Amino acid sequence: MTEQNKTCEKCNRNFVIEADDIPFYEKMDLPLPTMCPECRFKYLLAFWVFGRFRIAKSALSGKTIITVLPESVPFPIYDRTEFVSDAWDPFTYGKDYDVSRSFIEQLVDLQSKVPHPHQVGVKNLNCDWADDVWESKNAYLTRSIVNNEFVTYGYRLVNCKNCIDVTYSFDLDRCYDCLNCFKSYNLKYSFNSRDCMDSYFLYDCRNCQNCFMSWNLRNQKYCILNQPYSKEEYEKKIEEHNLKSRTVVEELKKEFWQHIRQNAVHRQNYNIQEVNSTGNFLNYSKNCCGCYFLEESENGRYLFRGGWCKDSIDMVGCMSLENCGMGVMDQLGGYNNTCNLYTTSCRYSNYLDNCEECENCFGCIGLRKKKYCILNKQYTESEYKEITEKIKSDMKKREEWGKFFPLSSAYAGYNVSLAQMQFPMTKEEIVKFGAKWEETIEPHYENIISGDDLPNTINEVSDEIVKQRILCPETKLSYNITKDELSFYREHNIPLPNRHFDWRTLNRFKPFSLMVIPQKGNCHYCKKEIEHYYSPDLGFEKIACLECYQREVA
Ligand SMILES: [Zn+2]
Ligand SMILES: [Zn+2]
Repeated sequence: MTEQNKTCEKCNRNFVIEADDIPFYEKMDLPLPTMCPECRFKYLLAFWVFGRFRIAKSALSGKTIITVLPESVPFPIYDRTEFVSDAWDPFTYGKDYDVSRSFIEQLVDLQSKVPHPHQVGVKNLNCDWADDVWESKNAYLTRSIVNNEFVTYGYRLVNCKNCIDVTYSFDLDRCYDCLNCFKSYNLKYSFNSRDCMDSYFLYDCRNCQNCFMSWNLRNQKYCILNQPYSKEEYEKKIEEHNLKSRTVVEELKKEFWQHIRQNAVHRQNYNIQEVNSTGNFLNYSKNCCGCYFLEESENGRYLFRGGWCKDSIDMVGCMSLENCGMGVMDQLGGYNNTCNLYTTSCRYSNYLDNCEECENCFGCIGLRKKKYCILNKQYTESEYKEITEKIKSDMKKREEWGKFFPLSSAYAGYNVSLAQMQFPMTKEEIVKFGAKWEETIEPHYENIISGDDLPNTINEVSDEIVKQRILCPETKLSYNITKDELSFYREHNIPLPNRHFDWRTLNRFKPFSLMVIPQKGNCHYCKKEIEHYYSPDLGFEKIACLECYQREVA
């Protein structure tokens, strides 16, 4: 088989279906893609809800719930514990397959009627104000976390505690405003650092303590701008910066990014122990192509965020699965599935939404532990085979087989999905792409103040601030400061944030949205041609091949 050149139906750019892609599509009986890899990611990520936290009522019991699903969803939202209980029966929504209509239309009809759970995740304590949260305690306005304790405004964290405003990080304690940091303690305003302590504004540092505004350092203490000082000199110098002031911190952040752009050395990718693979942020993966944020996987193609995957293609949010294609949040034991959305431990199934532990199911919503079901109706094994074959052949005739759920059926708008975080688009571009746009409902509070009117330093803040509603000038969303948060800021000398927490997360995340498209370039040092992932918009000057990076930095 040879590669094929195609034009993307979304962006009109030419793209290549690699010769090695084709056996995957054939094995899964999927048609060859009509969109380029980037548009495929955009499409699938649009189904992964980031959302906005809001208070609602469970449509089953009336119990108060906190959900990131918007009010505009067509289906009833049930409290998660009620959703997985026997208090309702998903078969009551069952429908016969109607040969005269498009199957996808019938699927979307069913999807719009069957209840969905208000939250993703289990085994949590005091995590009502969180989503996609697993085995955690006391998480507040936080998403996508595993095994965390006392985290606020977090996003995609593993084993973190006592942190505020941290994103994409593992094993942090008492950290603030960090991105892509690991195994660190009391780290602030830092990016891409590991095994560091008591430091500020670090970029790509390892095993450093008491460092300030530094990059590419290894095993250092008391450095400022990469220069070592005595302990006393260091402390005196740090004192000179009034870090309690927002204006000072913002100036320092600008200076920090100036150094990252001009002086820091950037390795051509962030991959660790990858073998024969392309993509960025790959750890311990083998024979993977065009994959991003992926752990310990093998033979994966165009997988975005996940781990422990084998022989799968075109998936986002993929965790522990094998032989799967074209799916969103298919996880924990998925096997031989295509076109599934938010499913857990399902096998040999297609077109499921919010199903768990199902096998041989086709076009079902909200089922648990079922076999041989179609459109939420139970069949015998032989009936199932006969009807699904008929559906598949009808779908092929209509050219809808292997197409994912339509974008109009995503639970929320593109602008409040992972797609917007990773591949941001304007409202106009989103609509042109065929996705939905979620409007902002401006809050109406008495006595609301603007984030721009908050005191500049933490010293000037009174206890009364916790009673105050604050309007974010960027997003027009309102937020407040909690008591615990205020004590954290006071203890750590941090000025009050003057923007909405979701805006802060998105803004912190921004560099990552500029590191997921392959770029051709030359190593800054040896001039060798390299493939790297830093968009020109980042303005990084010293991008190095792995060998030169090792020599210059490590
Ligand atoms: Zn495209
Ligand atoms: Zn080089």
